[in-house]
Amino acid sequence: MNIKLQQQAKAPIRQQVDKRANWIIIMPHLLAVKTIRQIPYGDILQARRQRLGKKDADKIPITLDLPNARGSHVSFACIKSDISSFDLLTLARKLVSTHEDHDAKELGIAVHGFSAGHSERIAEAMIAAVLASAAEMPRFKSKSKSQNKLQMIYLYGVKTAHEFKRTFAEAEGNALARGLSILPSNMLTPSDYLKRIRQLANENKWKLEFYDIKSLKKQKAGAFLAVTQGSPTEDAGIVRLQYTPSISKSKGKLALVGKGICYDTGGVNLKSANYMFGMHEDMQGSAVALGTLLALTQLKVNFPVECWMALAMNHIGPRAYKPNDVITASDGTTIEVVNTDAEGRMILADTLAMASKQKPKLIIDYATLTGACIYSLGKAYSGIFTNKDELIPKLVEAGRDSGERVWPFPMDEDYDKLIESDIADVKQCSRESGVDHILAARFLQRFVKNNTPWIHIDLASSNRKGGLAHIPTDTTGFGVRYSLNLLLDKKLSS
Ligand SMILES: [Zn+2]
Repeated sequence: MNIKLQQQAKAPIRQQVDKRANWIIIMPHLLAVKTIRQIPYGDILQARRQRLGKKDADKIPITLDLPNARGSHVSFACIKSDISSFDLLTLARKLVSTHEDHDAKELGIAVHGFSAGHSERIAEAMIAAVLASAAEMPRFKSKSKSQNKLQMIYLYGVKTAHEFKRTFAEAEGNALARGLSILPSNMLTPSDYLKRIRQLANENKWKLEFYDIKSLKKQKAGAFLAVTQGSPTEDAGIVRLQYTPSISKSKGKLALVGKGICYDTGGVNLKSANYMFGMHEDMQGSAVALGTLLALTQLKVNFPVECWMALAMNHIGPRAYKPNDVITASDGTTIEVVNTDAEGRMILADTLAMASKQKPKLIIDYATLTGACIYSLGKAYSGIFTNKDELIPKLVEAGRDSGERVWPFPMDEDYDKLIESDIADVKQCSRESGVDHILAARFLQRFVKNNTPWIHIDLASSNRKGGLAHIPTDTTGFGVRYSLNLLLDKKLSS
């Protein structure tokens, strides 16, 4: 992303407003006459707001063109300073979207009338939304419409020393996650995916190891291999990336783990048409893990990070695994297969076992894992699970603060009764239960070794019509922003 930011602590003067064709202006809900007069054309903004009624003006941006030579296009909102992060980001997305048709190379943002802390928080949300909207996503239309290429953001009313570097890094990570997820599965097979990861590893100086089918056979990773055996090409495998900081303050490393099913047909338990459509995005968990690694690398964090990506297809075919098969995972656990569409937990089982063997300080895994999680939460929240109950308040708080919201589910042992098997150590899932998201988490926690603290995110909000919070595309890349808050603000990795 080649977008630059210029900041200025003062409000813009009239000549500056007249110079730019596109503006976002944010002022307080209770707008004092003095505050309005400090902003060029403030009286015009206020008159428009009064005409619309205050109620709407705080949720829906007011748009107007200024009576200057350029007819500067303004989107404008008046907000309460204690607005939730989610609502603030949602408003930011709407404010930005009104500039899409105006081919903005430059965008002015003015935040005026708030305390310094509030101004910074509001400006951050606006920048996050601008960058999310400016990120180019894959499209294959032969008549491609000229995409507006934003080059400059001029921020007025806020000047910070950090220059919003974290927001930029986060936007890169999120754009990577979304871009990969949007690619159709004929363009992102496990081997295509690996090629792209290799290039990123070169650019970012990550150490890369790839455990291919042959190597996974040696490690007896039967749960992973069961899913891949239906594929005509043997290109599945587990990627391990390592970021090592130049100056390391903490010895403990963080492990990010992601589900990378490049296409999920459901396998022998074939999905019906409506449920199969969109299943090229079943690799989004791995892309979010990768995007988080990229953002952490750009921010030069002082702790080591590993990223484990389980790459495979879930195909139907004569060699595909079947219900009632009994599989042995790499840690010796025997699994009775119940439904081949519950493939995510199979590939993650061996991946989590391998990742936790390296004794990280913390594991976070990301997976578009269960429909049950979507039924429970809808698509504006993701589900969170952990083997350390004491982490739960922080986990929820990170969601609230980042605007990528999560909600915890129970992990009590008695849920295991629902996946008791007559023939093996454990059933892959239950045929009866409606709590598949909890059973999946209970299943996965078996493979987290050495009592490693572990957080599992079931990405119910990976795809939502019309976008989510600051993200304008249906594919959300949910998790990068959340993770940065959790790791850097809530200090979970220190
Ligand atoms: Zn599936």
